[in-house]
Amino acid sequence: MKSNKDLAARRAAAVPVGVGSATAIYADKAEGAELWDVEGRRYIDFAAGIAVVNVGHRHPRIIEAVQSQLGRFSHTGFQVAPYENYIALAERLNEAAPLDGQAKSIFFTTGAEATENAVKIARAATGRSGVIAFTGGFHGRTLLASAMTGKTNPYKTQFGTMPGDVFHAPFPARGISVADSLRALDLMFAADVDPSRVAAIIIEPIQGEGGFRVTPKELLEGLRERCTRHGIMLIADEVQTGFARTGKLFGIEHSGVKPDLISVAKALGGGFPLSGVVGRAEVMDSVRPGGLGGTYGGSPLACAAGLAVLDVIESEKLCERAERIGQIVSERVAGWTSRSDLVPVGKAHGLGAMIGFDLLKGHGSEEVEAGGAGRVCAKATEAGLIVLSCGVLGETVRLLPPLTISDDLLNEGLDLLEKALKA
Ligand code: PMP
Repeated sequence: MKSNKDLAARRAAAVPVGVGSATAIYADKAEGAELWDVEGRRYIDFAAGIAVVNVGHRHPRIIEAVQSQLGRFSHTGFQVAPYENYIALAERLNEAAPLDGQAKSIFFTTGAEATENAVKIARAATGRSGVIAFTGGFHGRTLLASAMTGKTNPYKTQFGTMPGDVFHAPFPARGISVADSLRALDLMFAADVDPSRVAAIIIEPIQGEGGFRVTPKELLEGLRERCTRHGIMLIADEVQTGFARTGKLFGIEHSGVKPDLISVAKALGGGFPLSGVVGRAEVMDSVRPGGLGGTYGGSPLACAAGLAVLDVIESEKLCERAERIGQIVSERVAGWTSRSDLVPVGKAHGLGAMIGFDLLKGHGSEEVEAGGAGRVCAKATEAGLIVLSCGVLGETVRLLPPLTISDDLLNEGLDLLEKALKA
């Protein structure tokens, strides 16, 4: 039998340290909300491959859709011999996306490609280059995406000059109010970049890697107003928030604000590499033929999976389920906040089943414990639960269970997490 230790040793010799892993286990198989490592040990999965398998591992309808496509062809290249399921998926997203007027969609492979292409489209549509993002935001690891990401270490520190014309406004968290945030943006327009030079403002409806901080509706409204006033494209980065995770198909629907462009990835493909940009049709059509695309963009296997994911979200009412999961988790976390036998934690924050809590410096303290979440997650994995940390300071434990998880498995996972919180 293969062991985690042997694979770790082979990995150390063969794979650079630049790609990290949250756990020291090596996956053998996964089903629903459970995963088994190469040593046969079972884990409950509260990571879902970082918000990817919202429909659970190996959902039968996804497997069936991909197998059926695999029987016909696996790759022709949409840029060579296009195919129907790409168009069908675009039609479904155009119909569902919270945008003003007619929409169009284009597909890529990774989340970083989605955010970068959203910016390219915004630049073509406006004839401008400036991009404004937020501190603590995460938009991917390719160069422009790294530049937009609002955290230097480890995303920018070692990588030299970042692509230009990218600016950061302070995200309203950690003592910064929405008014502070909007005032800083207006000062930025006065001091750094005239709004007439700004192509796009990109923001996550809930900061994911940045700590599961819900973007206040008032900030999104303030951004929408400024974008409309100055002809700037508002990009909602829904890579992590999309596809029922927050209790709506798109996280920004909670605010009622309509963006111009939406970057999507992760859960859309249900485990198959798929990303895209959905946007207002006239904005999407501003790029000349050939300016967008990619060899694997909108792979027919991934599009087949994407269509099945949308069907499952509807037929299994996963938006409602996400809300219920969020309630169960926040009630449980609320009980932990007053327990002196546990390490100090704050109350849950997030929306739907995109929910986390902070480790605190002391019981009753408001100050977060930097790096505290990683220690809890490591103990949880030892206990049999895969769960991830996030937050600019590594202070947040984030729960991203598959939305198809049963109440029993969810509660079993929460029991393991409680065990990991024992002081
Ligand atoms: N945007 C957001 C909001 C994300 O959470 C992520 C991934 N965590 C990305 C972009 C980048 O996606 P990918 O890793 O697929 O490039």
